[in-house]
Amino acid sequence: MRHSNNDVTGETRNGSECHALTSRQRDEMALFQIFFEESRDGLVVLREDGGVYCTNARFAVMHGYTLAEVEQLYLWNWNSQYEKSRLLEILRSVPMEGEHFETRHRCKDGRTIDVEVATNATYLHGQKLIFCHCRDITQRNLDRERIHYLATTDPLTGLANRREFMSRCEAEVARARRFHRPLALIIYDLDHFKRINDTFGHNVGDRVLQAATKQIHRHIRQEDLHARWGGEEFILLMPECGLDAAMASAERLRRAIAQYAYPHQETVSASFGITVLAEGDEIDGLIKRADDALYRAKAAGRNRAEIERPDVSSA
Ligand code: GH3
Ligand code: MG
Ligand code: MG
Repeated sequence: MRHSNNDVTGETRNGSECHALTSRQRDEMALFQIFFEESRDGLVVLREDGGVYCTNARFAVMHGYTLAEVEQLYLWNWNSQYEKSRLLEILRSVPMEGEHFETRHRCKDGRTIDVEVATNATYLHGQKLIFCHCRDITQRNLDRERIHYLATTDPLTGLANRREFMSRCEAEVARARRFHRPLALIIYDLDHFKRINDTFGHNVGDRVLQAATKQIHRHIRQEDLHARWGGEEFILLMPECGLDAAMASAERLRRAIAQYAYPHQETVSASFGITVLAEGDEIDGLIKRADDALYRAKAAGRNRAEIERPDVSSA
């Protein structure tokens, strides 16, 4: 175990004391020393003033320093989440039984890493020491984000998938109900899409899906939720949007799709079904109304938007 220069407990390393130890105690000390030094996690013992009391090689390597360099550092030299004054407060209030949290550390080269820290504190000769067990979880967090992305995103268009739409829709519907706010739902479906695939091939069909949804995405607000409902059918949830605004939006979106110059040099159109949330609506009922409106838009000749009004509109 390496002690920093300002080690105030030199007496514990005093040879005469060591002679008084039993062979069992010496073995235990040697064992703890090996565990500390060879740990695959970064270990650092801090003084209450934020300085390093002792540390291990893994902690130094994790942060891109040599052991000698780390021993000269203070907590605020590597913790990038809090200011020095806040860190000093934290050190003073670390409970003896310990805590477990995630934070960010700055490395010597300026990189930041995500770190999971488990702490506990003790007093040694009247001095409070804080033991920090640090694990670099940067890769784990990246993997978790990637898994979340894959589970919630449609790979072709990059839009939210149906599952993600449903979970966010539930939250939006609950919010709109609680605060009596308007909420519109639009379903759109590309017209005669099978023909595009049959004529130009599936790859061109894929490019058309990407281009059309990109056009829609450019014309909606950031707070609107845009998802792939299935195949060439997409869904939009528009918070704070009543019936008139939803109709105007759908018309703008219909034109955006119809007027875009697609790579296969043919026009593409979509049909739109619109509805708004009403008092007592369930999500399934809301989606069914937009679907009925879409069906009417298809039946009435496509490349158009139709509305299905709720019985009692909250718009
Ligand atoms: P309508 O105007 O009535 O909607 O006619 P449509 O041809 O668009 O509808 P239909 O349901 O008959 O065909 C939809 C087609 O969309 C069939 C399916 O193969 C195609 N499709 C679904 N998902 C994809 C995809 O990811 N890529 C491609 N290229 N085609 C897809
Ligand atoms: Mg279609
Ligand atoms: Mg369809």
